Amino acid sequence: MPSFEKYFEDSSDVCDVCLAPLDDPETLQTAEAMGVVLTFCSPQCRDEFLKEPEKYLDSEEELE
Ligand SMILES: [Zn+2]
Repeated sequence: MPSFEKYFEDSSDVCDVCLAPLDDPETLQTAEAMGVVLTFCSPQCRDEFLKEPEKYLDSEEELE
């Protein structure tokens, strides 16, 4: 069974771009796209997401 739900459950604890654990609240970044709030470990990762948001939001296909 795909861990699709688990991915979203966990997604608040890892960077949505590089999947690094978000263990430093001081550098944590968020962005909202298509009604989904994503979290990032750094402004760089946030920029990466904002460049190609569909790449990261389209996780349904990539994760199977
Ligand atoms: Zn990151």
